[in-house]
Amino acid sequence: MIAKRRQTKEVVIGHVGVGGNNDISIQSMTNIPTKNVEGNVRQICELFEGGCEIIRLAVTNLEDVKFFAEIRKILRAKNIPIPMVADVHFSPAIALDCLEVADKVRINAGNFSDRLMGPKSFVDDEFFVGKNKLQKSLGKFFQKAKDLKKSVRIGINHGSLAPRIVYKFGHGDVAMWESAKECLEVAREVQFENIILSFKASDAKKMIAANRLACSKLDEMGSYYPIHLGVTESGNGDYARIKSAIGIGCLLMDGIGDTLRVSLTEDPTREIEVAKNILQGCGARRYGIEFIACPSCGRTSYDIQSVLGKLRTQLEKLPSAKNLKIAVMGCMVNGLGEAGDADFAIIGSPNGTLSLYQNKNCVLKNVSWKEICKNLTKICRLKLDRV
Ligand code: SF4
Repeated sequence: MIAKRRQTKEVVIGHVGVGGNNDISIQSMTNIPTKNVEGNVRQICELFEGGCEIIRLAVTNLEDVKFFAEIRKILRAKNIPIPMVADVHFSPAIALDCLEVADKVRINAGNFSDRLMGPKSFVDDEFFVGKNKLQKSLGKFFQKAKDLKKSVRIGINHGSLAPRIVYKFGHGDVAMWESAKECLEVAREVQFENIILSFKASDAKKMIAANRLACSKLDEMGSYYPIHLGVTESGNGDYARIKSAIGIGCLLMDGIGDTLRVSLTEDPTREIEVAKNILQGCGARRYGIEFIACPSCGRTSYDIQSVLGKLRTQLEKLPSAKNLKIAVMGCMVNGLGEAGDADFAIIGSPNGTLSLYQNKNCVLKNVSWKEICKNLTKICRLKLDRV
């Protein structure tokens, strides 16, 4: 059974709402130093045109805060309203400054004020010293975010949990949840609510487990913070795409997730198409025609790969075809049955010709693929004229 989307509250980042009834949004991150203002502007423009809805930039020092502000100014002058997120590690001081120039600041709970390379063992006193330090610096940060009406992502990364958290709770989903929980306790004290949470790992199974545990705990507490999904350091190529699709897709099917980033060690624009495919594949958002096609076998009597490719090229140009489901099947053995709820089904005959079905009714029998393509285009254009 596919779960209903988990109820979350809306957190606004710039002009984009995350959580609540908003669509699940797509994020990405630039991959060049923030001091390269021109390069960042170019990358963000490309990402925005490709469908990226929220963009994140690394802010590694106080100088970067100025570059971040400059990039923002140039983008706004170009009429690019994309919400901008500052990504901060290790420094509460930088995070505080970023609140003045960014729509959202992403902090890493594990290194906000904790030492990453701590002693190999802790005594309880040291755990509480670390916790108190975090409470103090986070309290100030949340208070300023509240005053400036900015939002914050508390990022919990399996690979960078505070050593004191690992010492006390182990190195798994429980530790990831406990790390988030102590941040949420501080937020509650200053009544700061504009929070998005993420629980990421490079291992899809760990990332799935952490998100499931965290959401069950949040639901028990009646806390409906939106969730940002992602598999970190997933790498490149097919494997990275499959791993991201498993991690993010499983959670979307559970009803978990309000925004996502697919991390690829590639040009960031490539992340957007993968994110769109994951969302469409999970039935969460619709970006284009949903093609169903059989893998073909010894019963296929036409070049199904070529027909599918040509149809895709021809029909994807037509905005009116966007919401169609089109099945391309090799033969009638499973033909109409597998085509299921498709709006149109193209089915091969043993003599190499094709037939076109509309809502399971045959509208063209034993014709060439060109004839099918011409007719489908005409139907889609007619649909466009009526819109
Ligand atoms: S639909 Fe027909 S051609 Fe395609 S895989 Fe199934 S049996 Fe083979």
